[in-house]
Formats: sequence, C-alpha cells, structure tokens
Amino acid sequence: MSENPDYTESLVGVFGHPVAENPTCVMQQAAFDHLGLRWRYLTIEVLPGNLEAAMQGLRAMGMQGINLTIPYKVEVLRYLDDISPDARIMGAVNTVRREGDRLIGENTDGKGFIRSLREDANYAIDGRQIIVMGAGGAARAMTVELALAGAARILICNRSPARGEELVRLLNAETPAEAFFIPADEPLTIPKGTDVVINATSIGLYPDVTGIPPVNMASITDAHLVCDVIPNPPNTRFLQEAAARGARTLDGLGMLVYQGAIAFELWTGYPAPVDVMKAALEREFGV
Ligand code: NDP
Repeated sequence: MSENPDYTESLVGVFGHPVAENPTCVMQQAAFDHLGLRWRYLTIEVLPGNLEAAMQGLRAMGMQGINLTIPYKVEVLRYLDDISPDARIMGAVNTVRREGDRLIGENTDGKGFIRSLREDANYAIDGRQIIVMGAGGAARAMTVELALAGAARILICNRSPARGEELVRLLNAETPAEAFFIPADEPLTIPKGTDVVINATSIGLYPDVTGIPPVNMASITDAHLVCDVIPNPPNTRFLQEAAARGARTLDGLGMLVYQGAIAFELWTGYPAPVDVMKAALEREFGV
C-alpha cells in the first residue's frame, strides 16, 4: 500500500428522468480515463419532486458539477447561485459547475453546435440567414447562441405556432438578430437568401430512422449548409436527401460531442480530448 492513499474521486454526472439511455457517461468517462484524471461520471435517475434534494446532495457530497436532462433543465434554475448570461436568456441550464461553494448554471448545447459549425464545417456564422425547424429546447439553445454569435436573420418554422412565435419574440427582445416565424402548414420551401437549414426537431431519432422533417427537398440546393441535431443515427434521412441535392451537411454527433467537451472543460479546466470522446460515442452508437 502507498504511504498516504487517497481513494477519493471527483464526481460529476447527469440528473434526469428517464435517464437510463443517456450515453453521455461513455464519452465523459473515456475523456477522464484518457487523461488519467481521477474523475467519475454518474448517470443518476432523479424522480419527479426530488430535484431539490438531489441538488442538496450534490452540494453535500462536494460534487464538481452535473448535467441536467429531461425534465430538469428549467426547474434546476431555482437551486443555483448564478446563471451564465446565455443560459439566462434561454431559461434553461444543461450543465452546472462549481466555483468554490457556489453552483453556476451554464448551457452548452448551443455552444456545442457553434463549435461543431466552426471546427467540423469550418463555417463562419456572421451575417448569415438561418432557418430552423423546431422551437423546443435544442432549437432555443441553438438559436440564442447563433444570434449572439452574429447571425443576421433567424427564421423559425415550428408545428405548434405558439411555441415558435414565443421563441421569435425571445430572439427579437434579447439578441441583436432579426427573427421571424414561418407557419408549418405545408412542407417548408427554403426562402431565398437562406444560408443554413437546421433540423432541430426530434424527427429522425432512433428508432424512427425513416422520419424526415416536412421540408420541400426540391428547394434545397448546393448553396445551403444543412444541419441536423439528431446524433443517433448521425447520417439521418434528411441529411442523406440534402446531400443528394448537392448541399453540404453537418450531423448532430458533432454537436453532442462538443457540448460534452465544453462541459468537460468547464469542470476540469483541461482541454477536452474531443477525438477520444467522439470515438467513444461512435462505438456506442455502432457508427
Ligand atoms: P423538445 O421536446 O423540447 O422539442 C421537440 C421539437 O420537435 C418541437 O419543436 C416539436 O414541435 C418538434 N416536433 C417533434 N415531433 C414533431 C413532428 N412529428 N412534426 C413536427 N415537429 C415535431 O425536444 P428538444 O428540443 O430537447 O430535442 C429535439 C431533438 O434534438 C431530440 O431528438 C434530441 O435528441 C436532439 N438534441 C440533440 C443534441 C445534440 O447535442 N446533438 C442536444 C439536444 C437535443 P412542437 O413544438 O410543435 O411540439
């Protein structure tokens, strides 16, 4: 036995319900192990009504942080000491980090997408017109970050008009971008002047792999960058059909990896081993 053994580990993880199928532990643990860090990522089922107690437990156990997934990204706000400016605009937190005794809320989903745009697609956002299908949590996080990063115009098309119009109001009120709502009454024809088309709905997610968002695919051209949030399978039917029309494409696996990489960096202070994290997820998804 070594002279002064220390068997403790730094703890992070995810609170959610249901959470059993959340694959984040695979990429975070691969990153910790790759860098030889004594950190552990725990996948924790927190039943409805127990989030406050779970957050107290996190403080009591000195955990370094936590991810939040469905249904806790909004409720967690009331148990935090501070919230980053972008997460405050979104009204949602997916990552909590510790600063001494204080718990700070962040949102890395939209930032992960922006980093994937820059690093995987080498794409500059400044001045672009972007159309987003969907107005749920992913769309909210992505559009707020795109607007803060310099996108000029954001068009939101969503099945439920109330949710879509609310996101448009939020973007116009809280960010420098111009935002408009497009009703989803018929398949979406991509308007002139559009640079980027994003599926931010849950259509196409495993096991519904033949699903495709209601877009008039004939209006997609080689002038467009077409992106999908769906990480599993990454090469969705939407991206396959867009590529067949000559568009450049960007899959949702990159966004998933980078949102995790940013959380890793917020927690540990080390640059994330992005390739290791991506390879771990690809193995998990059988890509
Ligand atoms: P939400 O439940 O908050 O939003 C779902 C969105 O999809 C809503 O806009 C909803 O429209 C729309 N939608 C769902 N089904 C249909 C349909 N049949 N026809 C038209 N619109 C539909 O989910 P999230 O925003 O949190 O997640 C969306 C997807 O993004 C998920 O599949 C998730 O896996 C993925 N995601 C990926 C991430 C990544 O890192 N790659 C990160 C976060 C999420 P309406 O408002 O009308 O209900």
